[in-house]
Formats: sequence, C-alpha cells, structure tokens
Amino acid sequence: MWRILGGVLGGLAVAAAGTLYYLLFTFVEPAVDPAWAIEGTPDPRPGSVTARWTGTSTLVFSDGETTLIIDGWFTRPSALAMLYGEIEPDLEAIEQGLARNEVTSAAMVIPVHSHYDHAMDSPEVARRTGALLVGSEATANIGRGWGLPEEQIRVVRDGDRLHFGAFEVVIHETKHFQFADPTFREQALGDPYITEPLVPPVPAFDYKVGVPLAVEIRHPRGSLLVQGSAGFIPGGLADVDVDVLFFGTGGLGTQTAEYRESYWRETVEATKPERLIPVHWDALFGPIEGPFRGSLRAASFLAAGSDLTLEFLQEKAAKHREYEFATLPRYAPVELF
Ligand SMILES: [Zn+2]
Repeated sequence: MWRILGGVLGGLAVAAAGTLYYLLFTFVEPAVDPAWAIEGTPDPRPGSVTARWTGTSTLVFSDGETTLIIDGWFTRPSALAMLYGEIEPDLEAIEQGLARNEVTSAAMVIPVHSHYDHAMDSPEVARRTGALLVGSEATANIGRGWGLPEEQIRVVRDGDRLHFGAFEVVIHETKHFQFADPTFREQALGDPYITEPLVPPVPAFDYKVGVPLAVEIRHPRGSLLVQGSAGFIPGGLADVDVDVLFFGTGGLGTQTAEYRESYWRETVEATKPERLIPVHWDALFGPIEGPFRGSLRAASFLAAGSDLTLEFLQEKAAKHREYEFATLPRYAPVELF
C-alpha cells in the first residue's frame, strides 16, 4: 500500500517537475516571419548609420563618430529569480554585451521605460561608456541608486530635443503596452513612479514603469523611431515622419483586434516608415546567445494561448507592401542609411 502511494507521489513529483520545466524553461516560436530576417552589413560604408540589436529593445546606433544606446539591457534573470527572488545587474553580462556590440564609448543611453528589462543595466552601461543616462525621473532614480553622478543623468519630458554629434534625439511620451490581464496590468503599470534612488538587488516589480518614451533619432542621412513597448497615445506621433520604425510587438497578440489596429494606425501609419523592424518579440528569459526564442511557455499559457501577433503582422505585411518588414540579426551591424 505505502509502496504504491510512494510510487504515485513520486510519479506526481516527476510530472510536476516536468511541467514546471516545460513552463519556465521552454519557449514558443517567435512571432515573426523567418522570411523577414536580414543579414548584417560586414563592412558598413564610412559615415553610414548602423544599428545593432541584442534582443528585446536593446539597440546600438552609430555613425562611426557618435554612439547612442537604447536600453543597454544584457542581464537576463531567470524566470524563477523573477518570481521568487530579487534581481540586480550582472556585471559580467554587461561587459560581454558591450563587447559583442563593439561599444567602448557612447554619448547617450536611454531606456524606453523603467521596467527591469529596459532600464536595469542602463546606469552601469553609462558608467562604463561615459554616456549620459537619459529618461524619466524613475530612470534617473535607478541611476542614482547605482551611484551614477548627477551630471551624468538627464531627466527629459515630451518634446525635449538633445544633440549628440550629428544626431538629434527627440523625446515623445508614449504609453506602455496595456496588458490584457487586469491583475498583471495593475501590478506592472498601476503605481508607475520610482521616487527614491533604487538600490538593487530588489524584486523585479520594484523597477516600475516610469514615463514610457518613444525615441526619435534624426541624422543628416536618415531618421528613425524606437517604439519599444506596444502602446500609444492617440495623436502622439502625428507630426513624426521617419525612414525606419523599430516597432515593439511584445504582447500585442494577447490584446483585442481593436487595440492592435489602433496601435498600428497611431504608430506605423502616423510615422510612415519605409522599413518596419519588429522588436521586443524575443523571450526575456531566453539565452542572450544563439537563436532568438519566442515568449516563455508559461507566459503564453497565462495569455490563454491567444497570441495573434504573427497572424496580425503577416496580414499587415501582405496588405501594406509600402512597408518593408525586416528583423535584425543579433549584434551584427546593419547599415540603415
Ligand atoms: Zn515594460
């Protein structure tokens, strides 16, 4: 009798461990069409503006003289650390991330908002590269908590313009992606501000959203906009016209069709890019090396399997031939203009 019960319990434990592994350590397919993948430009022409992508919305732009960094996020805490523990920047991962992007100095690092998967490493990236840390007060407090000197921090607002070398950076306040699940939405977005210097290690949710930003970058050779999170303010980008749009698609397929259409209209149709580059579609918990993964199976399970992102994007790509869809390789420079 006891032996049978022990066997049953043992079997259940193995099944539970298997399920946990399946949910927390395996991934769904990425919500992008493999046909959109483009290759790096091995020898970018001198003076051209290049983009390098690490994954999520971590991007490095350079014209050979001046380097600008979006997010600079290289630490990848595990799903378990996120759920039950505290997280902090991984110095080794940051060092390797900068090296793989061939960054030794930079003029600016700007997280698109203050959640950990954007802003957590930005102060250390600023410290190592000499860059100015730019963002909302929440981002500034992440910098202060890391001991970054005040003169290396710049708090910005909607409409602010900053100049670095030949680049002009224009700040647009935007919205974060609105999570479909009300409980999660409240937890991630409900109380948005970080009002004191944030000293890690801290629980992941202590990296509150702050004020989300869309970052417009203009250069004599061309212009681009980074919309890292799939949110929008109606009319917010009405006067913005760019050549390349970095289009955050994370979570999009779990929202309503109406939300997706509004996001498309307010972002893509508003800015009329020639090239549309989906970002933030890869797993936050995926390895920073190797092929990109789609979201963690637990996340897609929580979203009740209703991720319609790929279907939505493929439909738009088929209908709107005026936009060239492209996904970037990891780390390799791609000549934009
Ligand atoms: Zn976020």
